[in-house]
Parts: sequence; structure tokens; C-alpha cells
Amino acid sequence: MTAAGIVIIGAGQAGYQLAASLREAGYTKRVVLVGEEPELPYQRPPLSKAYLGGTCEAENLTFQQQPFYTRAGIELILGERVSRIDRDAQCVWTIGGRRIDYEQLVFATGARNRAFGAAPRVNGLIDLRTMRDAGALRAALGQARQPVVIGAGFLGLEFAAVAAAQGVPAHVIEAGPAPMSRVVSAQVGEAFRAHHEALGTGFTFNANVHSIHAQDDRVSAVELTDGTHIQADLVVLSIGVVPNVELAQAAGLEADNGIVVNASLATADPNIYALGDCASFPSRFAGGRCRIESVQNAVDQARYLATRLAPKEPAAASPYDAVPWFWSDQGGAKLQIAGLGMRRAEEIVLRGDCGSMQFSVYGFAQGRLISVESVNRAGDHIAARRLIAAGAPVTPAQVADETFNLRLLLETSVSS
Ligand SMILES: Cc1cc2nc3c(=O)[nH]c(=O)nc-3n(C[C@H](O)[C@H](O)[C@H](O)COP(=O)(O)OP(=O)(O)OC[C@H]3O[C@@H](n4cnc5c(N)ncnc54)[C@H](O)[C@@H]3O)c2cc1C
Repeated sequence: MTAAGIVIIGAGQAGYQLAASLREAGYTKRVVLVGEEPELPYQRPPLSKAYLGGTCEAENLTFQQQPFYTRAGIELILGERVSRIDRDAQCVWTIGGRRIDYEQLVFATGARNRAFGAAPRVNGLIDLRTMRDAGALRAALGQARQPVVIGAGFLGLEFAAVAAAQGVPAHVIEAGPAPMSRVVSAQVGEAFRAHHEALGTGFTFNANVHSIHAQDDRVSAVELTDGTHIQADLVVLSIGVVPNVELAQAAGLEADNGIVVNASLATADPNIYALGDCASFPSRFAGGRCRIESVQNAVDQARYLATRLAPKEPAAASPYDAVPWFWSDQGGAKLQIAGLGMRRAEEIVLRGDCGSMQFSVYGFAQGRLISVESVNRAGDHIAARRLIAAGAPVTPAQVADETFNLRLLLETSVSS
């Protein structure tokens, strides 16, 4: 039997990146990447943007073709779910009965879409997580006349922007008072509401869905708890995700909104790690534990873990400490977020003009810059990532002043 090395469960963004980075970092033992989806590992962000809009195809989304994995000596096992872990024997079992031994095991199991309890199994009711979902949604959008989105989060709004661009504006139902209201500032929420309305999208806020109606096995309407019926021939469910933690829990590992890991991404079992959407980790940027659903988080954690597991030098003791950042493209408006916790901000400062959809919102807590949301201002976003990482002593008055050079401040604070 080949010597055990690292087994990665989940061949998504984090799993792929870890396997590739392990080889880049000089790891020479066995690397096995097991994923339950049948496709070669692929990127998800275009699924709700370019792919949905028909400007790129599925084959453009794969990170690498098969020869890359062969050359790199990464054993890819696709279309097979890991169903059990035996920590004493240091092995995992797939649903097909395959046993894979490990020295170190990494959970990169991601998250799955939250289900809507009262949803019937009918045509035209679709959620979006995988390439398969996206294919079904793209086909359904091509036939739709009355799309309805449940949930005004990033994905729901990206879908609405694509639908509007295709001449079938959606109606978006949201439990909160504004778009993305659990995450972004009121200023950004309001600007995006106006932006989407200008594209033709309709909204119902502060509304809860009671049930989804069907006729002839196809969705026909969404009923709200106040009795309102909103007609629909396509319903996109976008009400958040839940982390895939059950396999870890069944193996006796702790989970609390994510598989609990320390600042080195290790679980309580020193041979088992977790990263990406499925991991709950401590972060100074969150002021405690957090779980982050973003490409940056998956990629940076994977690169960090690769250097720990395949050290060219003796393993560095430094914790994972990358500034979280995120982006969303919504009908010509690019939202970029650096840092976490805008809703915790005690002082909010605007740079630029909300009405022009070219502005940034800076959030301060206890006198410190904690989060920056930039709309079509990539320069602000790049500077914000560095300002937050450096803990630069920037003030609300400085960011409010358009003539104040934030990059210069950065250079002086980093060099001092
Ligand atoms: C439509 C869409 C658009 C997005 N857009 C953006 C964006 O614009 N910007 C951004 O920053 N982020 C975006 N994201 C989020 C980003 O894609 C995720 O944060 C990222 O993919 C997380 O990587 P991951 O590896 O942790 O999880 P995933 O990429 O979800 O991969 C996890 C994989 O593990 C597999 N798996 C789970 N359990 C098992 C098991 N027991 N055995 C085998 N395999 C298993 C799953 O099937 C899945 O393939 C988007 C996500 C979606 C769905």
C-alpha cells in the first residue's frame, strides 16, 4: 500500500488550492483529494455571474485539467462522498467502500444551501450552489417570464441583475429591511436597492414566505405570511447556507457554526484540520470566532495550511491572520468589502457619492478602522485591505476627506 500522506475531503475552492499549494510548497508524500461532485474542481463565483449570463461556459470554470493533477501527483477521487472517519485507524471510508489512510486529514467540505421547510418538490424551484444547479438555473431563466428570488443576499441579487440584463426582471422577497442588510452598511444597502430598481428589479422587504404554490407540477406563486401572493414561474431560493460539519461531528470533533479549529486551523485532533466555508476559526478582525464564505478565505487558508504541513523550513508558529475580503458583481456595480463586521461599526464615514455608485463606506469601532465597503472604487478597496492589515492609525476625518491620500498614510504607517 502507498504510504499515507494528506487526505483532503472536499474538492472545491479550498480543497483544490490546498492540494496545489502543498505541491508548490514541496510536499512529497501522497496527496488525495476526494470530492463528491463529479466535475473536475471548479470555481463557483462565475456560476451566478458570467456563466448564468451566458458569457462563459462550464469548461472555462475548472481550475485545472486532468493532466495537471497527474503531473502534480495529486490523486483525484471524484463523484465519491466520504461517509466515515476512523480516527484511531487514521483512515476515511467513502460511500463506495473505499478506504483511504491518512497521516493528516483536512476538512474542506464547504457549505450547503439552507433549505426552505415548506418548499414542494416542483419544477422551477431552484437554488444555486453547484455547477449542476447553475446549469438548471440558466436553462430555466431562458424560459422564465416572472422570476422571483427569495433572499436579497449577494447571490440572490447577482441572479436578479443577470435576469434584468436578459429582459426578465425579478421580484426579490427579503425578510430584512434592505438588500444584504445582515452584512453591509445601510448606505450600501440603500444604494444597491436603488441600483437594482433602476435595472427593473422589484423588492418586497420585511416579508416572510409562508409557502410556495405550484400548478401542474411547476411553481406558480410565492405566498407571504401576510397573505400576499406573488406570481412566479421561476423561484430562486437564496436564503443562506449551513456549513457541512456532520462528518466531523460524527468523528467526535467539535462544531459550532463550523468545524471548530484554532488559529493554526487545527481541530482538537492534531492530525485533523479544517478550512474554507466549513471552518470556524478565531480572527482578530472578527473580534472572536468567525466562519467566512469567500474565495479569499478559502484560498488564503489553503496557502497558509500548505506552508504549515509542507514546511521548507521548520514550521512557523504564526497564526492564520489574513484580512478577510470579498466581492460581488451586480449589474455593473462591483461591491468589494475589506475587513469584517460593518454592522458592529460605531461610526460610519462616507467617501465619495452614493448616488453615483462610486463610493466607499468606512466603519470604525473603538477608534479603529474595522471594515470598508467600496462600490466601483477598486483603489479604495486595495488601500483598505492594507490599512486594516497594518492597523494603520487612520481617522474618520481623513477618510471623509477625498483629497486626503490614504496610500501615503499607508506608506508612512507601514515604514514607521
Ligand atoms: C454561486 C456562488 C457564487 C459565489 N460568488 C462569490 C464571489 O463573488 N466572491 C466570493 O468571494 N465568494 C463567492 N462565493 C463563495 C465561494 O465560492 C466559497 O466561499 C468557496 O467556494 C468556499 O470554498 P470551500 O472549498 O470551502 O467550499 P466549496 O467550494 O463549496 O467546496 C466544498 C466541496 O466539498 C464537497 N464535499 C462536502 N462534503 C463532502 C464529503 N463528505 N465527501 C466528499 N466531498 C464533500 C462539496 O460537494 C463541495 O464540492 C460564491 C459561491 C457560490 C455558490
